[in-house]
Amino acid sequence: MVDPRLAGTSIADSVVELIGHTPLVRMKRTMELEDIPAVLAMKMETTNPGGSAKDRPALEMILAAERDGLLKPGGTIVEPTSGNTGVGLAIVAAQRGYSCVFVMTDKVAPEKVSLLKAYGAEVVVCPVAVPPDDPQSYYSVAARLTVERNAFRPNQYANPNNPLAHTKTTGPEIWEQTAGRITHFVAGAGTCGTLTGTARFLKEQNPAIRIIAADPEGSVFSGGSGRPYLVEGVGEDFFPAAWDPDLYDDVIAVSDEHSFLTARRISRTEGILIGGSGGLAVAAAIKVARDAQPDDIVVVLNPDSGRGYLSRVFDDAWMANFGFLVECTECIAAVLDARAEDQAGLIYVNPAETVRIAIERMRANGISQLPVCKNTPPFAAAEVAGSVDELELMEAIAKDPAVMDLPVDSVMGPRLPTIGGGQKLELALDMLHTSPALLVLAGGRPLSVLTRTDILSFFEARAHG
Ligand code: PMP
Repeated sequence: MVDPRLAGTSIADSVVELIGHTPLVRMKRTMELEDIPAVLAMKMETTNPGGSAKDRPALEMILAAERDGLLKPGGTIVEPTSGNTGVGLAIVAAQRGYSCVFVMTDKVAPEKVSLLKAYGAEVVVCPVAVPPDDPQSYYSVAARLTVERNAFRPNQYANPNNPLAHTKTTGPEIWEQTAGRITHFVAGAGTCGTLTGTARFLKEQNPAIRIIAADPEGSVFSGGSGRPYLVEGVGEDFFPAAWDPDLYDDVIAVSDEHSFLTARRISRTEGILIGGSGGLAVAAAIKVARDAQPDDIVVVLNPDSGRGYLSRVFDDAWMANFGFLVECTECIAAVLDARAEDQAGLIYVNPAETVRIAIERMRANGISQLPVCKNTPPFAAAEVAGSVDELELMEAIAKDPAVMDLPVDSVMGPRLPTIGGGQKLELALDMLHTSPALLVLAGGRPLSVLTRTDILSFFEARAHG
C-alpha cells in the first residue's frame, strides 16, 4: 500500500520504485569524433538504484518467487554472484524483508565483498582452486546453503524472469524514448537477459530492428571456447537459457584491449564513466553506427559504471602490466623485436603434455623455463596455468625418475611474473633480480618469455649499433 500522504507529491514510494526508467542520451562527442552518420544513443543503466541493469531482473525474479510461493515473508535468498545481480537482489531484499547470502570465489576483488556486505548481505567466500564437485566449491556451497536455509535460489542463468524483466521494462522504455524510431540495439551478452529480453519486445514492435550482441573475443557466443578474457560480466563458457540466436542479427567479438581502451576514452570524451563491458558494447555500437544511415538510431545499453573498475581498467599500472598501455619510447617490446626471428613467438607446453616433452622443447630452443599454457591458437589466446623450470624438473626427476612421463601440470610451478610489452626496461631489470624469466603480455595475452640473456643481447647489439 502506497502511503496516502504521498498523494500529489513526486516522492517515490520506495527505492524499488526507482528501478528502471533510465535515461537515453545522445553520445554527442563520440558521434563527432568517430564520424558517425547515424544517431548513437546510450541507455544509461547506471541511474538504477544499484547502479546497473541487473536491478531490473533482480526485482522481477523476487516478485515472481513471491507469486509462486517460493519466497515466504522473512525468507532467504541464496545466489552465487559477485556482481551486479547481487546488489540488485540485496536492494530489493532490504525493502521486502528478506536475507541474502551470496556465494563467491576467493578470486573476487575485496571491494565486491565489501559492497554486498554494505547492503547487509551475508557473503560466503569459497576457494577458486577446487573442482566444481568438491564440497568446498562455489557450486556445492551454494547448493548446500539453499537446502540448509530453505532458501530461494534465483539462478539468473536459467530464470525466465531475467529476460522477462527487460521485455517488460527496458524494451518499452527504449521504444518510447526513440518514438519508435530505433533501428539498431546493441548490448553485451552475459546471461543474455538484457539482450534477449529487450530484443523480444523491440522485434515484436518492428521486426526490422537489428539486434547486435557484443561478446568478448574468446567467449562461446562469438565462437570461442569460453576463455580467457578479462572483461567482467559478459561472455560465457556455456549457452545460458536466455541465449536466443534467432533474435540476433549479428554477434560482434571485441577484444579486451579494445573494450578497455574504449571504456577509458568514452569516460573522458563523453564524461560518462563506463566499465569494461560498457566499453565492449560501445565499441561494437561504434562499428555498427559508422555503417548506419543518417536517419538511423543506434541504441547501446551501458550496463554499469566504471566506478567498480577503478583498480583495473582505470589503473594505468594494471593496464600497462597486461600490455594494454605503452609507458615509454624504448620498452620491453623493443627487446623482443630485436631478437632473432625463430625466438619471436611464445614457446610453451600444454598442461597435459609430459615432462619429457617439456624437457625436449627447452633443449630444442635453448631455454631453461617454459610457461604452461592451455587454450592455445587459433585465438592466439594462451591461458597461462603455470611454468616449468629446468632446475626444478631436474630435482623432481632425481627423486623419482617416473616424473618424466607424468603430465606437466602435476609438477609445474607458479606462473612467471608478468610484464607488459609497453613497460620500461628498468622494471624488467628489477624483476629479473628475483625471477630468471618474465612473461611478456600484449593486449592481455602472453606474447613471449623474456630472460636476462635477451636483455644482455639487446644491450650488446645496441652498443655495437
Ligand atoms: N555487464 C556487466 C558488468 C554485468 O554485470 C552483466 C551481467 N552479467 C552484463 C554486462 C550482461 O548482462 P546480461 O547478464 O543481462 O547478459
